[in-house]
Amino acid sequence: MDVSKYRVAPNAAFAPGAWPTREGDDFAGGKKAARKELAELAGRLGELQARLYAEGRQSLLIVLQGMDTAGKDGTIRHVFRAVNPQGVRVTSFKKPTALELAHDYLWRVHRHAPARGEIGIFNRSHYEDVLVVRVHDLVPPEVWGRRYDHINAFEKLLSDEGATIVKFFLHISKDEQKKRLEARLENPKKHWKFNPADLSERKRWDDYTAAYGDAITKTSTEHAPWYVIPADRKWQRNRIVAQVLVETLEAMNPRFPRVDFDPEAIHVE
Ligand code: AMP
Ligand code: MG
Repeated sequence: MDVSKYRVAPNAAFAPGAWPTREGDDFAGGKKAARKELAELAGRLGELQARLYAEGRQSLLIVLQGMDTAGKDGTIRHVFRAVNPQGVRVTSFKKPTALELAHDYLWRVHRHAPARGEIGIFNRSHYEDVLVVRVHDLVPPEVWGRRYDHINAFEKLLSDEGATIVKFFLHISKDEQKKRLEARLENPKKHWKFNPADLSERKRWDDYTAAYGDAITKTSTEHAPWYVIPADRKWQRNRIVAQVLVETLEAMNPRFPRVDFDPEAIHVE
């Protein structure tokens, strides 16, 4: 499967409405085949992570964004099922605290950037500072308007210093969000996930769509590309994300370090 079609080229204008939120039922050989392939890709991811950790020289930063119910948590659960928890760090960015708000908006983000050898997953990210912040007028337009440049510079810094960055926009339709919000209301085990505020966010769907369009247009770069993932179907979403990550890690080509002793000459008593 060629995943390059999901990548937003640098400087290309991105409009969510022009990109699909789902593929056909026969995608990747159908649901059953795609799930089987996902299991294999997940295992491969586990092996690559082990090498990345052992090598300890480069890091991988994964940014996950999407509307409410787009599947950020589910993607992490499924795609990283076979990865050693010791080598992955997930950071979920919530509403900033008073202390965080007393600083620049990248202050709370930078400290969670992955260390060498680590995979860092941002469940929401610094992009909220040009998304929810813009949609709710939390700062004036001239303040959020200059943040795209900061973000590009910040990501360039991380990349120059040894991080590989991939960003995913989990793209769902408004209809699919309705179904998922209803499912959260119907299933007692999902009640806790329902947040009445999600309904007022849903009313701002078009504003979020515009904000995502601008953010992704301005920040998909060679060193930190955005992938727009059709996410109405979880099996398609997981399958594509897993493949992008395996290909990304394969290109990083982490290697087990050479040792400076001769294992054959050592005898353990
Ligand atoms: P959830 O992802 O459902 O746990 O919700 C986290 C909430 O935190 C979302 O409503 C986000 O919009 C909000 N949030 C995250 N980052 C920021 C930010 N920088 N400013 C304001 N709200 C934020
Ligand atoms: Mg939520």
